[in-house]
Amino acid sequence: MIVETKVQTCTRCGSDAIIKNGKNRYGSQQFKCKTCGKQAVLSPKVAYSDARKEEILRAYRERPSMRGIERIYGVSRATLAKWLKKKPKRVMSRPQ
Ligand SMILES: [Zn+2]
Repeated sequence: MIVETKVQTCTRCGSDAIIKNGKNRYGSQQFKCKTCGKQAVLSPKVAYSDARKEEILRAYRERPSMRGIERIYGVSRATLAKWLKKKPKRVMSRPQ
């Protein structure tokens, strides 16, 4: 039998002084950091990988149509809008 011990640390400050803090309504284990007080899900589920996200955002830059992206990739417009807000806006410059 192989038992792997995973050390979880706070996602904000990196402290290992975290304790279990119940579960959210989706059943994910939550933690509370004793150092900085952050409360969050221990290992959040990743709905879209970074590569997938990048691919979708690239498609959006090619033709900025949220409804189009929604139809093709099945990403909700709310999710797409969230990503677009998070990404720093690039200065419009074309390669010479
Ligand atoms: Zn912390």
